[in-house]
Amino acid sequence: MRRPMAAIAAGVMALALVPTTATGAGAAPAPTPSAAPAGYDATRCGNTSSRTLLTFDDWPYADPDRATRIGADLHARKIRAAFFLIGEYAGRRPDIVTTLREQGHWVANHSFSHPHLPVLSDDEVDMEIRNGVRSNLLRPPYGAFGQREESAAAALGYRICTWTVDTLDWEKPDGDAFRSVASIRSIVRNAPVEDKYGGVVLGHLDYNFPDAVPGIIEDLEKDGYQLCANNGPVAADAPLPLDCG
Ligand SMILES: [Zn+2]
Repeated sequence: MRRPMAAIAAGVMALALVPTTATGAGAAPAPTPSAAPAGYDATRCGNTSSRTLLTFDDWPYADPDRATRIGADLHARKIRAAFFLIGEYAGRRPDIVTTLREQGHWVANHSFSHPHLPVLSDDEVDMEIRNGVRSNLLRPPYGAFGQREESAAAALGYRICTWTVDTLDWEKPDGDAFRSVASIRSIVRNAPVEDKYGGVVLGHLDYNFPDAVPGIIEDLEKDGYQLCANNGPVAADAPLPLDCG
């Protein structure tokens, strides 16, 4: 599971953060309590409830405070969401991370600079995760990961969290404009039942997903789904299973 040689090569930070109880040849790997247990479904992020979890990725570049306005609106609706922020920007606005958690939303790691992790070196993958938002959930940019990335994440105490419903809000299906609110809403409405029931919906802080969210909630509730419940402030680490009420 761990790659002690790579960790040592990564230098002082690695030595500070990676447990130093290296396992000998043939020994069982040391337990990584935050990492995913066998049978863990990364597409559901540990959501074993019947409720749907809305997730928001990246960063609202033109208007960073959009994140906490979305968070406040969802809090008022008693809904808990998850935000996977780009570490480079979140690091400059720690107040946004703090506020979102106080609003009852998980804020987790989406890497430092949003690269395709599989094309990076071992050390670069480590640094991308280490310098991302500190949590125990990692959403690899573009959902791109393999066994190496999963192992690197586990060694740092992370479990992978992707999604069951992709709103494709970043697409420009008709030319210049990003996918419309109506189209995003329709993608969620038409998604398979099993992808929404206890599922995880992916959208972005940019584009039109935030504006589509009120309609998505209305549609889900009309169809009998419940959203992940907001029971108050959360810590940096998300529990396993997730507490969605
Ligand atoms: Zn992203």
